Amino acid sequence: MQSIGKEPRLGESDTLPEFFGRLSEAWASALLLDYDGTLAPFHIDRHRAYPYPRVLPLIERILQTEKTRVIIITGRPAVEAKALLNPLHDLEIWGAHGMEHILPDGSYRRISIDVQTVELLSQAKQQVIERGLERLAEFKPGGVAIHWRGLPDAEAGKVEARIRTGWTALAKSPRLKLLKFESGLELRVAHPDKGDAVAAIIEESDPDTQIAYLGDDLTDEDSFRALNDRGLTVLVRPEHRETSAKVWLKPPLELIGFLEQWLSRISA
Ligand SMILES: [Mg+2]
Repeated sequence: MQSIGKEPRLGESDTLPEFFGRLSEAWASALLLDYDGTLAPFHIDRHRAYPYPRVLPLIERILQTEKTRVIIITGRPAVEAKALLNPLHDLEIWGAHGMEHILPDGSYRRISIDVQTVELLSQAKQQVIERGLERLAEFKPGGVAIHWRGLPDAEAGKVEARIRTGWTALAKSPRLKLLKFESGLELRVAHPDKGDAVAAIIEESDPDTQIAYLGDDLTDEDSFRALNDRGLTVLVRPEHRETSAKVWLKPPLELIGFLEQWLSRISA
């Protein structure tokens, strides 16, 4: 683990200075970005979680160079992320943890789910309704989430206790997995996950393409593991935590510094 500005440790092949050195030389690059907690601070109303100042103009300038493929990989439904990233257009977005894919030309595709998984997810939704948690629920492609951001700790604990047992039982199926995220719990399809989206991007990239992934959440650990042998993985978070990412940046200043550095390296 290396924080920005610190000397690379021996044997660590992917430190920030080394990565940026390779990026300067590269003819192709890909910048993979989680949205919530990475580009945007959390907001009590998740539909108003807009990016940090300066983030959108910097991404826009990176896109304008046409040297970097910028790809958003988020747990949100893809259209929701697209709306929050307005006025950026021609963006590639993998939504719902890789279930949905919007290409830069606006075309959309969604991975279909088998009948048994659909049935398990409908049981999960039924539990939400029976426990009176609909107003905290988000029904999205391939999953159901319960959000408790903004609730007092005691209340949040009660909400979690009401849903966790039932969902844990459903998650015994290998078709589903239970994810704890910042202020919530999500039961969703085991695959695809964000790591599968990253693997697909690696697969279609030229071997010389320089790739970095920035994320904050536990769901981003799948992405870090998928990319670690191939590119730079960055945990973006105010506090450090146990992670597979190689570099840690504190938002927003170090994140903005990273994007500025990226822009200057590909513009040189
Ligand atoms: Mg996040």
